[in-house]
Amino acid sequence: MIKAVRGTRDILPPVAGAWAEVESKVRCIFRRYRCEEIRTPAFEESELFSRGVGEETDIVSKEMYTFTDRDGSSITLRPENTASVMRAYIEHRLDQRPGIQKLFYIGPMFRRERPQKGRYRQFHQIGAEVIGSDRPEVDAEVITLVYDLLQETGVDDFRILLNSVGCSDCRPVFLARLKDSLVSVKKELCQDCQRRSETNPLRVLDCKVSADQQFIDQLPSIVDSHCQSCREHFEVVKGTLTDLHIPFTIQPRLVRGLDYYMRTTFEFTQGTLGAQNSILGGGRYDGLAAQLGSRIYAPGIGFSIGQDRLMMALEERCGQRRDSLDLFLAPLGVPAARLCAVLAHELRGGGATVEVGVDAKLKRALELAHKLNARYTLIVGDDEVRTGQFLLKDMSTGSQELVSRQHLLSKFSTATEHGI
Ligand SMILES: [Zn+2]
Ligand SMILES: [Zn+2]
Repeated sequence: MIKAVRGTRDILPPVAGAWAEVESKVRCIFRRYRCEEIRTPAFEESELFSRGVGEETDIVSKEMYTFTDRDGSSITLRPENTASVMRAYIEHRLDQRPGIQKLFYIGPMFRRERPQKGRYRQFHQIGAEVIGSDRPEVDAEVITLVYDLLQETGVDDFRILLNSVGCSDCRPVFLARLKDSLVSVKKELCQDCQRRSETNPLRVLDCKVSADQQFIDQLPSIVDSHCQSCREHFEVVKGTLTDLHIPFTIQPRLVRGLDYYMRTTFEFTQGTLGAQNSILGGGRYDGLAAQLGSRIYAPGIGFSIGQDRLMMALEERCGQRRDSLDLFLAPLGVPAARLCAVLAHELRGGGATVEVGVDAKLKRALELAHKLNARYTLIVGDDEVRTGQFLLKDMSTGSQELVSRQHLLSKFSTATEHGI
């Protein structure tokens, strides 16, 4: 039998329904922030990611799905979406639209990671990129948006970790200090850190190996190296979040390994997925457009949430949902089935969720109506076809009433609005 490819999965009902529900909630929240949807292709020229995500990252060096197309060009399935959104912004000159561009996306990304619980090779991200301003107020607004987004989807026990990774003026100074300090402790650190000490010392700071922590804690803090303008920027972000009563913790070790990331960096962590786990990360990337070869000044800040993990967290909290069914039609016999097809169409047209049974045995039909969580069941036999009067059964109370076709249509015509 052919099965789904390792590291991928089917999102089945009713879980897929829960995904759609979260997505529609998220869309509402984005709309309130004037954040507009953007849909970029699932694959791009490989160079976009080697430039935009960074040659030295694990993503680009080990995890990308890259292939040579028939014309010889190198194509990659998107491992994340920031580079693609920035490419689209530049390509279509979105800087010429009014205001700053707040662009959100929801969709699958692809990385060849080792499969494990909660990690998939086709995974899903909900994210946004806000491009066109380097102001700290924008950073605070983005963090506020994420805060609303998690709260309103039902995740509430999260923590916000906040840092500023400096800018092209002050970070080199910090890096020099960091490298100096690493010389003496390097041999105590894990293999990865020893390599990173040379290639990308900032990444040492977010090593998760526990034996390394005592040494890493002694390393210099980037917060002490900020230049005047980075300090002012960070103060506004922190001050605005404080005004908004959004709690956060300064985490000086929260860094990003790439040069185009600057200033505000944040992470939201949450407790129910084992230890404190990151559910999303984000940050400012004022240098990305230049990194992609653009001359447009396009400072930006963004975030992405792993939807797979988000849904896991919500499931632990809310359990599985069940779709409701307004009305189950149980036709007994051929003329009844034909009438039910028409009735169902009329009722659905009025907004009701309707299912028509296919089993001619009344007992089995009622059992199914029960399993499908139907609120009402309508039994239609030859008598009902002849008289136009139907027996409507309330499944929660068991009570029955005789209704006409007209009565039925009006009762269910606003089913969704009134939530009967
Ligand atoms: Zn600076
Ligand atoms: Zn390490």
